[in-house]
Amino acid sequence: MPRTQTGPGGAEFTVRHVRGGDKPYTCPGCHRVIAVGTPHVVAWSNESLFGADRGLEERRHWHTSCWERRLW
Ligand SMILES: [Zn+2]
Repeated sequence: MPRTQTGPGGAEFTVRHVRGGDKPYTCPGCHRVIAVGTPHVVAWSNESLFGADRGLEERRHWHTSCWERRLW
């Protein structure tokens, strides 16, 4: 179930917890790779200047711990 949290820049983000990706992603918090199959967080801005669709396009994958420790 997506929920809304404050994220980078103090903006509102929709946050979704996922079981694991099918490809590796780089976490913007620690700049390390999130391995395939690792549960993590996907977050995107609700306040994109270019509208909600663009915000969704720019969603980022974070380690759960990096997101929760607010490494942004
Ligand atoms: Zn990280």
